Amino acid sequence: MNSKPRIPLADLAAQYASIKTDIDAAIAEVIANTAVVRAKAVPDFEDDFAAYCGAKACVGTGNGTDALYLALRGLGIGSGDEVITVSYTFVGTVEGIVMAGATPVFVDVDEDTLLMNPDLIEAAITPRTRAIMPVHLYGQPCDMDRITAVAKQHDLKVIEDAAQAHGATWNGKPVGGLGDAGCFSFFPGKNLGAYGDGGAVTSNNADLVESIRRVANHGRKDKYTHDTIGVNSRLDGLQGAVLGVKLQHLDEWNNLRRSRAALYDSFFESTTIRPQGLSDGVLPVYHLYVVRVPAKERDRLVEALNGQGVDAAVHYPVPLHMQPPLKGMQKAPLSITEQVAGEVISLPVYPEMTDDDVARVADTFKEAIGAQ
Ligand SMILES: *Cc1c(COP(=O)(O)O)cnc(C)c1O
Repeated sequence: MNSKPRIPLADLAAQYASIKTDIDAAIAEVIANTAVVRAKAVPDFEDDFAAYCGAKACVGTGNGTDALYLALRGLGIGSGDEVITVSYTFVGTVEGIVMAGATPVFVDVDEDTLLMNPDLIEAAITPRTRAIMPVHLYGQPCDMDRITAVAKQHDLKVIEDAAQAHGATWNGKPVGGLGDAGCFSFFPGKNLGAYGDGGAVTSNNADLVESIRRVANHGRKDKYTHDTIGVNSRLDGLQGAVLGVKLQHLDEWNNLRRSRAALYDSFFESTTIRPQGLSDGVLPVYHLYVVRVPAKERDRLVEALNGQGVDAAVHYPVPLHMQPPLKGMQKAPLSITEQVAGEVISLPVYPEMTDDDVARVADTFKEAIGAQ
């Protein structure tokens, strides 16, 4: 039997313990003011988060999937339109596109970074293409210079799926302000997480943000005028208060994630364990620390780690174009996507992890793979 404590993939209890006084006070204030839906905490957080992302404006939403849907709707993208994105991502990326009535068109990922391969975008463009939706997967920004250049050339919008990348930067500029709209999730396990669902759209176009705000609030122009049939997808007041407290700690937490990742890198340096490649100019935030192993070994290694009390997991084993509702939607080859989906393992990485925890995970992993 293994008597060592379990190392979770993330430790939200430890995080709460470190900020409990401030969180409890912020929540109590919202409830005491009995303004839970329209709490001041929400616009306060929206302003702070826009500034944090280097964007002009921000609107809170019910979750990250809705943020993607609302950004597309705000940009007038829907039925009959195509949006270029990746199949190697969380399903929410594509749900946002399909909810808006548009069609996702998948391009393959880069073999090293596991992110949208900008070389493949041009060939995927058709007369129906309206937007490119890069996903800053695992917390590493995509090549936004190349992506925005292609978009400009073909008059396409760029919507960043930044749901895993709060605080990551590309050439010194934070994600969320690099395209026409940036979409975030505040699901509890994200780098900036609420205590329930939440999301946001950021943009340098304040008018776009205001039109999204109306759609997200029942299409309301004023109390009794509904300009459009909207949805109910607002950031809850309690979550806004929680996020306002947590945002103050985000840089410190992302720094700690990077130091944990650097430690893993050093442990794996001379082994066959291969971390997600980083491109020049990125400052990643390690939502997940993802390594690749030979496909035939992957499941055995995850089981071996789990058996030793290490919560390793796989993000994502089945690419979206192979999921039942999206089968047959593939147009271009997605061979790298299919290959890496069989090779990846996510290792625990969170700010409260100790050096000893990292060493234990790395040793357990190296032992299991036979690479010590
Ligand atoms: C979490 C996530 C989403 C969706 O966010 P929810 O808040 O869960 O709806 C979208 N895209 C990516 C890449 C995500 O990781």
